[in-house]
Amino acid sequence: MDRKEIEKIFAPPAPHMVGDGFKMHNFIPGVSRLDMKRMDPFLVLDYGSKMYFSPADKPRGVGCHPHRGFETVTIAYHGSVAHEDSTGAGGIINEGDVQWMTAAKGILHKEFHSKEFTQKGGDFQMIQLWVNLPAAHKMSKPGYQTLKNNEIPKVDIENQGGIVEVISGEYKGIKGAARTYTSVNLLNTKLNQNGKVKFSFPANYNTALIVVEGSVMINGEKIPGDYFVLFKNEGEEFIVEALENSVILTMSGEPIHEPIAAHGPFVMNTREELMEAFQDYNTGKFGYMEENLN
Ligand code: MN
Repeated sequence: MDRKEIEKIFAPPAPHMVGDGFKMHNFIPGVSRLDMKRMDPFLVLDYGSKMYFSPADKPRGVGCHPHRGFETVTIAYHGSVAHEDSTGAGGIINEGDVQWMTAAKGILHKEFHSKEFTQKGGDFQMIQLWVNLPAAHKMSKPGYQTLKNNEIPKVDIENQGGIVEVISGEYKGIKGAARTYTSVNLLNTKLNQNGKVKFSFPANYNTALIVVEGSVMINGEKIPGDYFVLFKNEGEEFIVEALENSVILTMSGEPIHEPIAAHGPFVMNTREELMEAFQDYNTGKFGYMEENLN
């Protein structure tokens, strides 16, 4: 096994508000070199760095909107996210929980702070990834998986270094909680100060990580909180050492190498399919939902 080297370290780009509830740093595809193909099958990485919200009556967030052609994966680090979609699925994810929504042929959904969090106020921090679906599944039936933290398999790191939560894919032979359409390793790692964790992924998998909390050392480079690390497609193994108690999200996926036609909330393979998505949405084929939370 060869060491996997860092290709580039990215500082968080300036944030923008998504609706009135999510302060997002768009690493993918917002940042130079991180277009929708570089981290195939990860199309989008929106990082919601920690932000305090004062108590309020009305949940902040994003009202009813559509998606087609991919999956959204939402990980809550602080605060809680409420979701409702046009399949009738819904729920609240709290700290450490993950929501894996398969938009596939089309879904309408709403993303808000939960009512309870809204009333109490507090720190809010989350990540949303968009994972591409291969052409064969872009028009499959939509689905929704709530992965509560206690349902996510965990692997202890040696010398009380911390734990790896296997959201999807696998780590050291332990399979992740989520059902996926392609090979997608998504690992949330909580490291104690000086804890060391080793990762190993096939060289051709697109691999990166984000430091959600704390700061870490990788291959002699210090990586601060909120920074994103892109790895080269050479070598397999790297070690992350925590300089303080830290949390990192590591993503590594097998590229599907399919053409991408993307606009707004739709990601298809061709321009024609994209036009069809807009037409289907505009003619009510995605169904109907109230704008705000029930
Ligand atoms: Mn959405």
